[in-house]
Amino acid sequence: MPSTPYLPEHDSLDQLLDAARAYCGQFLADLPELPTSRPDPQLQPAQLPEIGIGGLAALAEFDAQFRNLLVGSAGPRYWGFVTGGTTPTSIVGDWLTTVFDQNPKGLTGPGDLSANIEAQSLALFRQLLNLPDDFMGGFVTGATMANFTGLAVARQWAGQQLGCDVAREGVRPGQIRVLAAVPHSSAIKSLAMLGLGSTSLENVRSLPDREAIDITHLTELLNQQPGQPVIVMASGGTVNTVDFDDLTALVALKKQFGFWLHVDAAFGGFVALVPSLAPRLAGWEWADSIAIDNHKWLNVPYDSAVWLVRSVYAVLQVQTFQNTNAPYLGDPMTNFSYLNMGPENSRRLRALPVWLSLIGYGRTGFRVIVERSVALATEFGQLIAKSGFLQLEAPVRVNVVCFSLRHHRTDATWLATFQTALNAEGQVYLTPTVYNGVSCLRAAFVNWRTQTEDLHRAIRTMTTVYQQLTEAGTDNLRIDRHFL
Ligand SMILES: *Cc1c(COP(=O)(O)O)cnc(C)c1O
Repeated sequence: MPSTPYLPEHDSLDQLLDAARAYCGQFLADLPELPTSRPDPQLQPAQLPEIGIGGLAALAEFDAQFRNLLVGSAGPRYWGFVTGGTTPTSIVGDWLTTVFDQNPKGLTGPGDLSANIEAQSLALFRQLLNLPDDFMGGFVTGATMANFTGLAVARQWAGQQLGCDVAREGVRPGQIRVLAAVPHSSAIKSLAMLGLGSTSLENVRSLPDREAIDITHLTELLNQQPGQPVIVMASGGTVNTVDFDDLTALVALKKQFGFWLHVDAAFGGFVALVPSLAPRLAGWEWADSIAIDNHKWLNVPYDSAVWLVRSVYAVLQVQTFQNTNAPYLGDPMTNFSYLNMGPENSRRLRALPVWLSLIGYGRTGFRVIVERSVALATEFGQLIAKSGFLQLEAPVRVNVVCFSLRHHRTDATWLATFQTALNAEGQVYLTPTVYNGVSCLRAAFVNWRTQTEDLHRAIRTMTTVYQQLTEAGTDNLRIDRHFL
């Protein structure tokens, strides 16, 4: 690499790349045993050097300062939130994204291959999930932005019903109704960002012992305030119990009432790969917009997700996201540019890790990842049920296990103490939730590296931590050790 007067490079590019490759290889080899949690890092204030020390020395400095503070969040026992991992091929895809440093915009501009790669990746992605071709799509940072994008077009559509152009004129409180039963927090955040207001959400009742919309209650709500545009935010997999709204019933209601149907299928969308689970998504092919994360079950690095919006709404989408305020929009598809279709202007070629993964692993590769995750969740649920001191709080529907401490179900403080002590062990990482009014822990399985042995390690650690806490406290509780 020629050094320039502006950027003195101390090390040869090859040296630097080789060092990085070796460093990454070591990190990935260590990843399965990396602690899933570390103490608060408490970093010292950094001092900007006047003269740089060079890339190799900077890497060594990083290693000395931070390497032992990193947690294995991409490893096999990080089950908090819904946390994916990185397959080897997706890592290479992400490296190449950086090396090529493209900025995908137009499909037809001179030499703009990158936007075409993005479009082709989406075509592969639709094939993977058996979705029809008339969904347009694009890559964004996460399902939060995918929800935002779909709901932004929904907002424009709702404005059109009222005879106004929301992108130009804004929205007034109460103009647009939004209905959902158990929306993800990011969908509510999206309502806030879109100026619809998070309080515009009207809660639909869910079915008893379910997180899915009670269709009867939804129908009642839809019969109120006729003539007012409605957006229904449906769940294609809730984070606590991976429940799915009855999308077929929603599509039937949509025909009757004419609302916008947005499906948040951030991770649940991938059950389309498993024949026995795919029916839970039945009807999603008729949705108006869908949000799906890649950095969860597709196991590509952060940050990657996809929005899908039906192509009949292309004009509404361009009205919302156009970067040039053209008074008249021709057919936005003839001069398609991602610039006018989503929230960002400049973007990295985020599609490449997905493209490489889909070609590299194929449908079967991802079906195996999803099936294995589901099998592991089922097995973990059985271990929980047999443990004696843990209690399943919901059936393991797909890939999330939601459980409580059997003898402390009503004691949120006890659970919080347990969770803190458990995570401090660094063997397994879980996050808390409240389900049906009970404080619970969740284990979400989406990482391709997880194996049965990891389940047993988690149970062993939970048992030890529980015993320590009960011995420290006044409880004297029986733990069935035979199953371990
Ligand atoms: C994770 C998740 C989101 C938000 O996704 P980010 O990738 O964090 O932006 C939205 N909806 C559901 C159901 C999720 O699981």
